[in-house]
Amino acid sequence: MDADVAVIGLGTIGSMTCWNLSKKGVSVLGFEQFGIGHDRSAHGGGSRRFVVASSSMNHTAFSKESHQLYRELEEDTGQQLLSSGGTLTIGDPNTDRMKNVIKCVEAYNIPHEILDKDETKRRFPMHDLFDGEIAVFDKLGGVLRPEQIVVTAVNRSRQLGAKVYTYTKVTGIEPDANGVTIHTDNEQTFRVGKVIISAGPWANEVYPDIKNIFEVHRIIMTWFVPKDTAQFTEDKFPNFSRVSGDRHIIGTPIIDGRLVRVSGAHAMKVLNNANEFDKNVDVQDILEVRESLKHLMPGINPDPVSTIPFMDGYTTDQLPLVGATKKSKNILLMCGFSGSGFSQGSAMANIAGKLAAGEKVSHSIDHLSPKRFDL
Ligand SMILES: Cc1cc2nc3c(=O)[nH]c(=O)nc-3n(C[C@H](O)[C@H](O)[C@H](O)COP(=O)(O)OP(=O)(O)OC[C@H]3O[C@@H](n4cnc5c(N)ncnc54)[C@H](O)[C@@H]3O)c2cc1C
Repeated sequence: MDADVAVIGLGTIGSMTCWNLSKKGVSVLGFEQFGIGHDRSAHGGGSRRFVVASSSMNHTAFSKESHQLYRELEEDTGQQLLSSGGTLTIGDPNTDRMKNVIKCVEAYNIPHEILDKDETKRRFPMHDLFDGEIAVFDKLGGVLRPEQIVVTAVNRSRQLGAKVYTYTKVTGIEPDANGVTIHTDNEQTFRVGKVIISAGPWANEVYPDIKNIFEVHRIIMTWFVPKDTAQFTEDKFPNFSRVSGDRHIIGTPIIDGRLVRVSGAHAMKVLNNANEFDKNVDVQDILEVRESLKHLMPGINPDPVSTIPFMDGYTTDQLPLVGATKKSKNILLMCGFSGSGFSQGSAMANIAGKLAAGEKVSHSIDHLSPKRFDL
């Protein structure tokens, strides 16, 4: 055996899974087809919203635990990876989305405040709510630094003994009763006990059995010049998600001293596979967010000055695939994070580490099992 476990794909989930396993003393091989922290997949763009107050109980449970685990990664490495400016969820309190957010923060004791239109304007002046709208301010929320997290977790894994192969694409996995044989594009072969597939948008290429329930979404991030930069720092303009009528925008504060990021929540296209990914952005792709900004956020010049597409792997029920497949107990899927893998990421990596090491998982994860799709 070359190692106890191989992790295929060292992005969001894979990097932290390697860290988790190597911390426990499990021997790990990590494979990444590009460089660590690259910008062609789901973890680029400089920021991710860390949201605990979600409209899904499950998401809130995993992100509450992730908060603690991101802090552990920070302590273990001395790097700042998650800010603590909070997250706003804005909308009509009579909608299911807002009712569920309030249910989740109450059920999981998430420190929060519920603000009306005037109080929101006083505290966060760039948000002009419509009459009757409210904002839920989730105090555990913040901004995650995706590339730093991936690079930091992989570097720390290496220090702890993980062997990492970059620019090495896994081209085949062959499970049998005693382990798994792995083939790579540079014609190397490895033998391990278990394989974790954390290949993000390429998961259906690495494990084609999921092809009928897996989609690759191309999602565009857009950055803007604010009219007054001082109003968009995290203390005045934390992460937010706002649904007003049929407009849905999400955004993060200025983190590089210049630009604010706001995206249309629906700025996505479904691709047949990740290899179809096109980095060019058409004018059509940015019109929706431009219109939304004109209506909802007049403090921002509505023409984006930077637009970059990324990808994420989605499942048809928008819940991730977590756990062993019917085909082999030695193949664990950790993919299909469907647009919310960073907020839950460190908890999911912790679960991957436990499953691979044969430890008990404290969360209920049956509803995330690949077996729900007969896989
Ligand atoms: C634009 C955008 C904005 C988002 N915003 C948020 C947000 O604000 N908050 C939030 O919680 N979530 C957000 N998400 C979702 C979140 O970023 C993803 O769900 C998460 O990053 C997915 O992690 P992953 O590990 O599955 O994939 P990735 O991070 O993409 O990692 C997969 C890795 O596997 C590698 N790989 C694939 N195939 C192979 C192979 N055969 N051999 C070797 N390596 C391979 C890839 O190169 C890649 O590095 C956003 C996603 C996008 C795209």
